[in-house]
Amino acid sequence: MNIQLVSVLAASVGSVRQVIKVRVLPTDSEAAALDATLNACNSAASWLSAAMHKQRIHRKYDAHRHFYTEVRARFGLSAQPAIRVIGKVADAYASLRANVHAGGYRAPGSPRRSGMAGAPIRFRHDAAQPFDARCLSWQIPNDVGGREATVSIWTTHGRLKRVRVLAASRDLAVLRTRKIAETDLIHRDGKWLLYATVKAPQVTRINPVNGFVGVDLGIVNIATTSDGSRVSGERLNRYRRRQQRLRKRLQAKKSSSARRLLKKRRRKEQRFAFDINHRIAKRIVAEAQRTERGIAVEQLTGIRERVRLRKPQRATLHSWAFAQLGGFIAYKAQAAGVVFVHVDPAYTSQTCHACRWVDKRNRRSQEVFECGRCGFVGHADHNAAINIASRGVERWGEVTRPHAAPTLTAS
Ligand SMILES: [Zn+2]
Repeated sequence: MNIQLVSVLAASVGSVRQVIKVRVLPTDSEAAALDATLNACNSAASWLSAAMHKQRIHRKYDAHRHFYTEVRARFGLSAQPAIRVIGKVADAYASLRANVHAGGYRAPGSPRRSGMAGAPIRFRHDAAQPFDARCLSWQIPNDVGGREATVSIWTTHGRLKRVRVLAASRDLAVLRTRKIAETDLIHRDGKWLLYATVKAPQVTRINPVNGFVGVDLGIVNIATTSDGSRVSGERLNRYRRRQQRLRKRLQAKKSSSARRLLKKRRRKEQRFAFDINHRIAKRIVAEAQRTERGIAVEQLTGIRERVRLRKPQRATLHSWAFAQLGGFIAYKAQAAGVVFVHVDPAYTSQTCHACRWVDKRNRRSQEVFECGRCGFVGHADHNAAINIASRGVERWGEVTRPHAAPTLTAS
């Protein structure tokens, strides 16, 4: 038999970007100026988009050469906002092309596809607009624990100075100490917001000299590591089943107060899962960092097709945020300099980690793994996690030796 080639999705550690969300509290006249600015920038974007589409110009450089002067003159934009508008439109066309290319808009010639590719992209009058440091600067007071700051921002009505903003003190601390790459101005549900993108400090990669921690994700056990630690899903699954029963009762009522309550419960359930995922990821990454190991997690595409379950478990699987946990681990690993790889999950639960014998019957039950060849007996998820760890080692070997032929493991 052969074990499939291990695939990798993410194996690089670079700089990590973080987005900080801040509430803007403009006065009425400041709000009017912000509103006019978003309007002008998006009218400019829609106009430019139509012009680019008509002349079949899609690259940023060409758009700049042809339309920069006109965009500024027509819409009263200063240099930086005009450049940002051109960038925004060119980026929108680039991602549209990428989507069409990837088949995101169905087959060539289909009505949807020709509709998307055939008409110019339009921008909502209040769509988000990016600002760079020249057009938006921050004044953040130096008091730890403070929540207020001010920004000065370019608008079509002139520069607004010292507009009040409100943020979590932790977020303000980040903005005070890190370099802010760019900031999006957003108007949503009557609220003004700034989304600031900051660069996290470059972290040094920890070479996985002691191998990998393998993580097996599941329903009965949310996460099992190759070290043998397990997080049971029992508490979470019980909570979810209770929420589901409550939801059914509320759904039957159909009143607006029931709808509100439903929404609240759903949010609460998401927060509950979020907290659990957050804690699991933190623990796994800390352990890998301490022991100078990388982390290997199975690639989860197609988990619904792969897992066959009894009925009561099905509901829990569909609502459980597997992808979220994988994403948290990847993100936290990257931020800590821990190497993270995705590996192919095929046969990890049927393969004996001790002698590599693959047989469906090796997995005797949900919990018990018993090898039909060497006689190894152990916890099924733990065995799978050890297999994932060794695939992580193999994968890392391939990634760090780019010119070596990929190894096809057979036994
Ligand atoms: Zn064996």
